[in-house]
Amino acid sequence: MTQHPAAEPSHPESPTVLDHDVVIVGAGFAGLYAAKKLGRAGVDVLLLDQNPYHQFQPLLYQAATSQIAISTVARPLREILRGERDHVKIRTARVADVDATTKTVTTEDGLVYRGKILVIAVGTEPNFFNTPGARELAYPLYSVDDATSLSSAMLGALERAAATQEAGGERRPFGVAVVGAGPTGVETAGAIAENINAVVSEQYSPDFAASINVHLIDMGDTVLPPFSKQSQKYTRRSLQDLGIIIHLGAAVASVTENGVTLADDTTIPAGIVVWTAGLKASGLLGAAGLPTGRGGRVDVRPDLTVPDFPGVYVLGDAANIVDAKGRTLPQLGSVAKQSGQWAADNIQAELAGQAPTPFGYRDLGFMAMIGRGHAVAEVTPRRFQINGLLAFLSWLAVHLVLLSGMQQRIAALVSWFRDYLTTSRPQVVVYQPQQYARTRQRGTTADRSTTGVNND
Ligand SMILES: Cc1cc2nc3c(=O)[nH]c(=O)nc-3n(C[C@H](O)[C@H](O)[C@H](O)COP(=O)(O)OP(=O)(O)OC[C@H]3O[C@@H](n4cnc5c(N)ncnc54)[C@H](O)[C@@H]3O)c2cc1C
Repeated sequence: MTQHPAAEPSHPESPTVLDHDVVIVGAGFAGLYAAKKLGRAGVDVLLLDQNPYHQFQPLLYQAATSQIAISTVARPLREILRGERDHVKIRTARVADVDATTKTVTTEDGLVYRGKILVIAVGTEPNFFNTPGARELAYPLYSVDDATSLSSAMLGALERAAATQEAGGERRPFGVAVVGAGPTGVETAGAIAENINAVVSEQYSPDFAASINVHLIDMGDTVLPPFSKQSQKYTRRSLQDLGIIIHLGAAVASVTENGVTLADDTTIPAGIVVWTAGLKASGLLGAAGLPTGRGGRVDVRPDLTVPDFPGVYVLGDAANIVDAKGRTLPQLGSVAKQSGQWAADNIQAELAGQAPTPFGYRDLGFMAMIGRGHAVAEVTPRRFQINGLLAFLSWLAVHLVLLSGMQQRIAALVSWFRDYLTTSRPQVVVYQPQQYARTRQRGTTADRSTTGVNND
């Protein structure tokens, strides 16, 4: 494939445009696997991401609860793509603007890149649904930054509560509220409860641990809405066994310094509120003039290209992708990864003057971890249901395979073994109250949207 990272002399006032065969924005599952496959085939690719690392979202909740180290969920892109470095150029920059008609992107530092093919794989961002106080006070769990902030805040809150109790101060119940009972909320609430029951109980005191309540709140009438009734029942029972107080049919009206207020004026006291109630498409997509549909995502053709924008692909969570039966696929790591790999094949066909083919998704099902020895899984397109220890082991195996990097896999395996067999979580090393305060002032992942406005 021809390489032509040539600088184009244009109008003296206008910025230099840097050309590549393929420009990919976003190095999540979709963008990364597209770049890797194209690089292996010798295609000239520029991969742009705001971070110099690939973040493994499915294990962020474990990083936030100190089960595994941050280095297990964030792997440097230059390390992952070192075998493809002759063909895949990496640039760490935040894309501020996309022009899908000319297939150019402009980074915040003013550089302009143009591809014969443009791939947009920017994922999603937290949706606070304009809930008062949520953006400012609740912790989303979408990025490594979010996991670090939550971990630091949990540690700070525990230390403050323990000091207050020791000083004979008011013994107010210290609560943690997780808003959203989908897979991320269930996994996070389960991990926090286990942390309190096992680790806090041992490292602080059983009495102190017993004074901490973990709440799981959702406006819907069930936990894990996409799962079967049997899985939901099992999950609910397992969460309650961990001591989690479940509030269903409970709409959050506001988040305050003291916790969560529900629509019926009930207050749930919580020093920490974790927000896993929803995601929305990146503001970059609408601003680029791309045709957006459900969830603000781009409705792509079956071959993953965008109607009326030849040579533009939108992949992974940023797209509404349909399967062969016309059903919209869920926002899952497996969909993103496979869409990236499929798009790489279509892009090679397109560059060779051939027609792209419709995406064929290999449906592996879905699963959710609840806690030590407990998980639910519905596997294959027939949704074969398993729960308990077998689902727990399957979850570990699937995530081990999905995780990028041998060192990361070994580190995760060691951490899981230690976590299963002991009550030790030595990863509790992120304690940066100053850094944390700055992060909250600057805003969350969502606040750093390209439009620069609150677009809940
Ligand atoms: C907490 C959590 C747990 C999950 N658990 C599971 C699970 O167990 N199993 C499963 O299958 N799926 C899970 N998912 C879903 C899965 O992680 C996503 O479907 C998948 O990551 C989507 O991949 P993507 O490449 O489309 O987007 P992302 O992985 O979100 O990647 C988008 C990339 O784009 C970059 N980016 C965004 N905007 C810009 C910009 N303006 N400029 C430059 N770069 C930008 C980001 O830095 C990021 O690297 C989970 C998601 C979350 C949030």
